[in-house]
Amino acid sequence: MIIIDGAEGEGGGQMVRNACALSLVTGEPFQIINIRAKRSKPGLMRQHVTAVEAACVIGNAECSGLSVGSSELTFRPGRVVPGDYQFAVGTAGSTGLVLQTILMPLILADAPSRLMLEGGTHNMLAPPFEFIERCFLPIINRMGPTVSARLIRHGFYPRGGGRIEVDIQPAPLKPIDCVERGQLLGVSATALFAALPFDIADREIQAARKMLTDWPAETFAVRQLPDGAGPGNALLLQADYAHATEIVTGFGQLGVPAQALAKTAANRMAGYQASSAFVGPYLQDQLVLPFALAKGGRFSTVKPGSHLLTAIDGVEKFLGTKLQLARRDGGVHEVGLG
Ligand code: AMP
Repeated sequence: MIIIDGAEGEGGGQMVRNACALSLVTGEPFQIINIRAKRSKPGLMRQHVTAVEAACVIGNAECSGLSVGSSELTFRPGRVVPGDYQFAVGTAGSTGLVLQTILMPLILADAPSRLMLEGGTHNMLAPPFEFIERCFLPIINRMGPTVSARLIRHGFYPRGGGRIEVDIQPAPLKPIDCVERGQLLGVSATALFAALPFDIADREIQAARKMLTDWPAETFAVRQLPDGAGPGNALLLQADYAHATEIVTGFGQLGVPAQALAKTAANRMAGYQASSAFVGPYLQDQLVLPFALAKGGRFSTVKPGSHLLTAIDGVEKFLGTKLQLARRDGGVHEVGLG
């Protein structure tokens, strides 16, 4: 039984999700204590409970301590059974994070799966749908599997009610290199809004335009979603390179002026564009599991964040292999095995 102290490293939900995924892949049971000890509301939240429940269902796992607020969990994996599954977070909790928990075991299963996930699709502190579809999945697909995702309905905090569908054609993960991102092919800035004044999205776009001065005017757009999806707002800044796509998201929230949100997002995008790294600050921790399971390959990234370091430690506990970090020129870092 692997014992994990959830207070170590990043101290968030990622440790729980990655542990479930790795446990299902390796067959190793685990116990985690001090779950999310470093968060303002420690313990499991609804979205983590749904993620672990999903792992239990697809992997015939036995689990104790699985309830909202719980700070300890024991997980004994069974056999992963691919198939059609539907999981609903029940709040605006992230569908993307539920997917993170069960994707690797289903990718390595012996038959296809189809998932229908309900909850939030554009949440703070989680990958928004477009990030999963355009930044994360293309890399997974280059590694062998075929995974496609569709956004059926947007879900914003606090209402939720979003839906995504994911088709998974499994295949062994093969090592790849994601080091050179290639030339810039295009950029786009989209302010999504639903059941909110147009002015909010418009101010975001104007503010982003002022900051991203070399982005062509026609790449900035406002997109109104049906009122039923709202209230909600997100600003998505996307840069497409020959081999990589980066999306920086500003999530609209009460009390944060539209201009300030746009400024932060634009600054982050400018930072990514100024570096030559393939992988941005969020994708770096999300690639740890697939690269470790592929037993090879490497990627270049911006400054390593605490989510990345914690994910590397978690993988070492289950697989006994440690991804190495190396510093390269120009503030770029490289993550790889061996
Ligand atoms: P945790 O904070 O432990 O619950 O983990 C959050 C997860 O969501 C990590 O895998 C992050 O990389 C990911 N994440 C958070 N914010 C974003 C964002 N704006 N875009 C993409 N991924 C994100």
